[in-house]
Amino acid sequence: MNALHERIAARIAAQGAMTVAEFMALANAEYYAARDPFGRAGDFVTAPEISQVFGELLGLWCVQVWRDQNRPSPKRLVELGPGRGTLMADALRAAKLAPEFLDALDVVLVEASPLLRAKQEELLKGEKVQWQERFDSVPNDRPLLLLANEFFDALPIRQFVKTARGWCERMVTRAGDKLAFALAPVPVADALIPVDRADAPDGAVYEMCQPALAIVGEIARGVAAQGGGALIVDYGYDAPAFGETLQAVRGHAFASVLDNPGDRDLSAHVDFAALAAAAEAEGASVYGPVSQAAFLEALGIAQRFEQLASHNRATASTLWAQLDRLVNAKQMGTLFKALAILPKVAPRPPGF
Ligand code: SAH
Repeated sequence: MNALHERIAARIAAQGAMTVAEFMALANAEYYAARDPFGRAGDFVTAPEISQVFGELLGLWCVQVWRDQNRPSPKRLVELGPGRGTLMADALRAAKLAPEFLDALDVVLVEASPLLRAKQEELLKGEKVQWQERFDSVPNDRPLLLLANEFFDALPIRQFVKTARGWCERMVTRAGDKLAFALAPVPVADALIPVDRADAPDGAVYEMCQPALAIVGEIARGVAAQGGGALIVDYGYDAPAFGETLQAVRGHAFASVLDNPGDRDLSAHVDFAALAAAAEAEGASVYGPVSQAAFLEALGIAQRFEQLASHNRATASTLWAQLDRLVNAKQMGTLFKALAILPKVAPRPPGF
């Protein structure tokens, strides 16, 4: 039993079972606060850590969206959950091809973990960058370009299970020395469950990520009012789906969700249909989701890799392996998806 397990058990003893979302929030706050989880020696590898091309293309996506809206200035570039800062470093380097984009540009990284923030400061020293712990602390007073890769999958989800009594919330409770799942005895109000899910069969699981919906709503409000565009890349499903997707990953392998909280990464599939609806409700236009493969290929990822390979034949086989990981349907190409949020008046963004 680790220290966080003891804290959670003590809280359950005092206050009763907690929601899956409360558990996930506590576990992931501890997880990200204490370690750099990325790379071979860590728990998982993300797209910007696979290749510099990923961040370069996303940076150029922002430049193009900004150009398409007649180059408003000043403007702000925000990244949610920047990890090691690799994506932003690659995006800013690529954006140097368009120096006028970098003029009068505020760069804001939204990061809750002090340890990862220190990594980002180190990698981005020399760049003018600010930090916020939460997106709602970023002012909404200028056009917003926003990037988020594998941020939303880390936000806490609630789980509801359809029973003969109605939809009951799944809770985390104690079973002896262990933590265990249990259903709340009293069903939640029907209004909490979207109508398109209402007649699911008994045993169906519905997952809801309230912080994701709130953040996407706020992004859409900002973009609709001030201009700009947001690009969300993550793993997830594009149509309403049932089934539990909460997972724990440690050392590049699946692990149990409830054991040793805080020493493994908890994440869940992103419900892109729900994010799209939340953005549209705020008056923004939504594009996608499209597969990561389709998105990156439309942005010219193959040509960029060709160019890198032609400069250095010795590393060509490494480069092709990186490209394969990003776009092959059996790797990240299909499971990962891209969604864009733009003002209604803006043209269709590149890649969609
Ligand atoms: N975008 C990076 C890292 C993804 S991991 C990449 O692709 O490599 C998730 C990131 O989101 C980490 O930086 C983590 O510290 C941050 N994060 C997770 N939950 C957060 C929250 N509630 N608020 C702010 N940042 C959070």
